[in-house]
Amino acid sequence: MADGSAALRTVKTTCAYCGVGCGVAGAVGEGRSVLITGDAAHPANLGRLCSKGSALGATVGLEGRLLEPTINGKSANWHEATALVARRFKETIARHGPDSVAFYVSGQLLTEDYYVANKLMKGFIGSGNIDTNSRLCMASAVAAHKQAFGADLVPGCYEDLELADLVVFSGHNAAWTHPVLFRRMEQARARGQKHVVIDPRRTDTAEGADLHLAIAPQSDVRLWNGLLADLVRRGAIDRDYIASHVNGFEQVTAALVESDQSLSAVAADCGVAIEDLRTFYDLFAANARTVSLFSMGANQSAQGVAKGLAIINAHLATGRIGKPGACPFSITGQPNAMGGRETGGMANTLAGHMDFSPEDRDRVARFWGAPDTTRAPGLKAVEMFEAVRDGRIKAIWVMATNPAVSLPASGAVRDALAACPFVVVSDCVETDTTAFAHVKLPALAWGEKDGTVTNSERRISRQRALFPPPGQARADWKIMADVATAMGFDGFGWASNAAVFREWARLTAYENRDRFLSLAGLSALTPSAYGELLPVQWPIGVDGEGTPRLFVDGRFQTPDRRARMVPVLPKGPAELTSAAFPMSLNTGRIRDQWHTMTRTGLAPDLCRHAPEPYVEIHPEDAEALGLKDGALARVSTARAEAVAVAKVSDRQRRGSLFMPMHWTDAFAPSGRANALVEPRVDPTSGQPEFKHTPARVRPYRET
Ligand code: SF4
Repeated sequence: MADGSAALRTVKTTCAYCGVGCGVAGAVGEGRSVLITGDAAHPANLGRLCSKGSALGATVGLEGRLLEPTINGKSANWHEATALVARRFKETIARHGPDSVAFYVSGQLLTEDYYVANKLMKGFIGSGNIDTNSRLCMASAVAAHKQAFGADLVPGCYEDLELADLVVFSGHNAAWTHPVLFRRMEQARARGQKHVVIDPRRTDTAEGADLHLAIAPQSDVRLWNGLLADLVRRGAIDRDYIASHVNGFEQVTAALVESDQSLSAVAADCGVAIEDLRTFYDLFAANARTVSLFSMGANQSAQGVAKGLAIINAHLATGRIGKPGACPFSITGQPNAMGGRETGGMANTLAGHMDFSPEDRDRVARFWGAPDTTRAPGLKAVEMFEAVRDGRIKAIWVMATNPAVSLPASGAVRDALAACPFVVVSDCVETDTTAFAHVKLPALAWGEKDGTVTNSERRISRQRALFPPPGQARADWKIMADVATAMGFDGFGWASNAAVFREWARLTAYENRDRFLSLAGLSALTPSAYGELLPVQWPIGVDGEGTPRLFVDGRFQTPDRRARMVPVLPKGPAELTSAAFPMSLNTGRIRDQWHTMTRTGLAPDLCRHAPEPYVEIHPEDAEALGLKDGALARVSTARAEAVAVAKVSDRQRRGSLFMPMHWTDAFAPSGRANALVEPRVDPTSGQPEFKHTPARVRPYRET
């Protein structure tokens, strides 16, 4: 142990922070001390951990924890709190209908938690109003997958990242956001793997890449469409694959001729040198083993779905999918964003990747014994809080997330919560959002929770408890199940998390569904087998074997089993810059912080990387504005103003600003970046445009 004491036992679990889903070994000592190392047997990380994962042991103290239920700020017991939540939700539904209530949940929830939340809201309350903060990180990729593949399916696996000869990072700063995966790819470079980074910023990922295309903000679709046109010109498409497995190629290529696809025109529109563009297109044409990673830089846009589709089109046209080292690959942000997608934690899916077709809806309703199961999707995250603000939603339950900081226009979210007649927050810690709660419910934290999560390569891993529950904290699934029972609903009386998981796994295979998402081989797990479950990738056959790679046989989840290429045209950002707000503000993550710092903010080592809110700006812009490196700056948008330290860097494009989104009231209330962002979203995915908000910046004290 770090403190010299002996470990009492070692528990294998999964990291709490990102979609890589690294295996962690926790050597537990006295009290809540734990020595964290990487689990060498876990296929996601093979023993490696990044700075955040390595610091998990520094964040498991009880400082700031919610340890008892409260009602209007006063201590309550579980019976009182559960009864009140059940009564207020029932009364609201009886008076205003099921769509007058909502759940806003989180990629921190375990799959078992997600399953229960979705069953309660969609199945028994009868509303689609459950959405997740994962809406903010990958909803555009989900929508692109559904259009192209017929379902939200991630084709590849991490091994593909090592097998690829070319990796394209599209809006993905893997070196900071998915460091362990990045290290795996850095090792592959030793045998000649090439890296191309498409990002307006010169990130750490771009810094060492073979090619960095510092494209103009929001020109991604133009760049990828230009690539497809170039591949057609070269004859570098796979006509046999298209003939056998793909629809829509002619429609897509017909749409391309509507604009000038010459290298010079594309390079000019994307703001890159023609030689660099040619280099990228040459590399893509020459390397059959290409993986195109895309993440929040692509997804967090008013045209995020189009970006995903443009990337997928290039892969379908070249048959680079379902093969070793070749696929488009969306990487998720949170540890269980995938689990939420699977169980229906998003407002526009039902459960088990089923939609709202009458057939799917009736199948789920039969399985649950829930005749009131909703027939329609609910409100997505941004719409949900707008509905809270205008009074359509009168009771909301926020679980394990902090929308008062993380959502766009977070000031308006605070106004909405303040005006809402009934707000419940279940979380492990006090947050900016708990300040608005009428009822606070103490949930288990990482290190106490026990259940499953799914990482970006569809791999299900166990999170296991290192410590006993502190105070009166309870598992999220149990909190919800008790409220459901108190509301008078049957079907929520599970004896354990293993029983919840078994029911979920049975649903995925119910009535012989011909779908990829099947956990058939896990639907009869005994409690001890569930406890010992080894990491496995779905789909999982009845023999328990997982599946590393999808679409190997060229069959997709569409009715005719053929993938679809979808025409997409480049569009500008939802809102243009102006004389008043002449710069483009991009908000995002930094290497050593997670979400709104509720946990990583407790680790001194992690706070050293960037101790205060900053705004990154190009040196020429800084000079023109009289801003010095390290000086305080005011960043303003039409929505709000924030104060941050100017970081002058030629990593930033001229005319662009970058601000990290992590800081909260507890750390730097005037530095909340997402308070500046307008709640504009992709019309299909509902994902907010965090990557572009017209803004201006000036010295804190202008002379
Ligand atoms: Fe945790 Fe992600 Fe780091 Fe792995 S890469 S240790 S999952 S934060």
